[in-house]
Amino acid sequence: MNEDDTVRLPRAAAMDRALPSARRAAALPPSSARPSHGRRSLLGLWTGIGAGAAALAAAGGGVWWWLSGPAAPVEPPPIRRPAEPPPVPEGPPALSTEEILANRAVEPLALRWAPNPLVWVLDFPNLELQGRAMNRMAALLEKARTPRDRVLGDEALAGAIAADGRTAANWYFGHNYRASDLARFFEWAERDGVPLNPLELWVREQVELARRVDRSRDAAILTLPALGPHVDAAMRGAILRHELGHGQFFTLPFFAAHVMRVWERGFSEAERAAVRRFLGAEGYDTRPEEMMANEAMAYLLYTPDRRFFDPARDLGWSDEQADRIRAMLRSGAPEEP
Ligand SMILES: [Zn+2]
Repeated sequence: MNEDDTVRLPRAAAMDRALPSARRAAALPPSSARPSHGRRSLLGLWTGIGAGAAALAAAGGGVWWWLSGPAAPVEPPPIRRPAEPPPVPEGPPALSTEEILANRAVEPLALRWAPNPLVWVLDFPNLELQGRAMNRMAALLEKARTPRDRVLGDEALAGAIAADGRTAANWYFGHNYRASDLARFFEWAERDGVPLNPLELWVREQVELARRVDRSRDAAILTLPALGPHVDAAMRGAILRHELGHGQFFTLPFFAAHVMRVWERGFSEAERAAVRRFLGAEGYDTRPEEMMANEAMAYLLYTPDRRFFDPARDLGWSDEQADRIRAMLRSGAPEEP
C-alpha cells in the first residue's frame, strides 16, 4: 500500500477548494515554465509532458490547462521505420566462357561468368596493366617472400618482383582471389597508408560492387590478360579455364570441401610434396593447405596448355598417376568449366 498517494491526493484536492481562483493562478507555474514544445529533445518533451500530467492529477485535474490557455500543438514524435535496404545494383554482363574469350578489352573491363555469376572476370588489355592492378594484392595474399600482415609500398613491391627474377608484367599470368580477401587488402592499404594506383582503385570499385550485388555470398575475382606478344589464344584459354576452376572452388563450398578431401586423403604425402615443390618454384607460399589443394586442382583439371603445366615435367608423375588423381578430383567437380 502506497501511503504517500493516500495522503497527497486528498491534500491537493483540499488546497484546490481553499485557494481563491486568483491565488490559485499565481501558485501555478508561469507559462514560461511550461514545456516549450518543439525546442526540446524528444526525451525532454516526453519527460515534460509526463511531469505535466502528474501535476494535473495532483492538482485535481483540468484547471491547470484551463487557466494557462491552450498549449502549442505537440508534434507527434517521428515514427521510426526500419531502414530500407539500399537497392541492389546490377552487376556487369554475364558471359559464357567462349564469349569471355571472344572479348577484346581495350581498357580494363569487369565481366561475370554466366554459369556461375558469383565469379567475376576482370579482363585486362595486356599483362602490364593486369600486373599493375593486381601484383600488390598477390604480394599480400599468396607470394612466398612477401609479408602476410601488411601491404607493400611501390618500392618494396618492385623489389619483391625483381627478387623473383620477374617483371611487373610476368609475375603472374592470371589472378584469383575471394572478394572478401581483396576487401581486406583495401582496408589494410588504408590502415598502412599505402597509396594505391588508379588501376588498383578501379579493382576496389569492382570488389565493392560485387559485394553489393550479392551481400550474402562471397564472390570470386579472377583476372585475364588480352592476347599479346606473350599470350596466344591457347594460353589465354588455359589461363581463363584455370582461373575459372579457382572461381568454382571459392564460390561452391561442396566443391571446395571435395577438393580438400581428395588433397588430404587421395594424394599420397609424396604427391603433396611434389605439388608443393612445383608451386614453391612458382613463387607461392606453400604453407596454406587450402591454396596448395586449390592450385593442384586448377592445374590438374583445368590447365590444358602444357607450356603452363605438364605433370611429367613439373611433378615427375606418369600420365597414369596424373589421371588417377584427376579422376578423384573430377568426381566431385561441377560440370563447368
Ligand atoms: Zn592458380
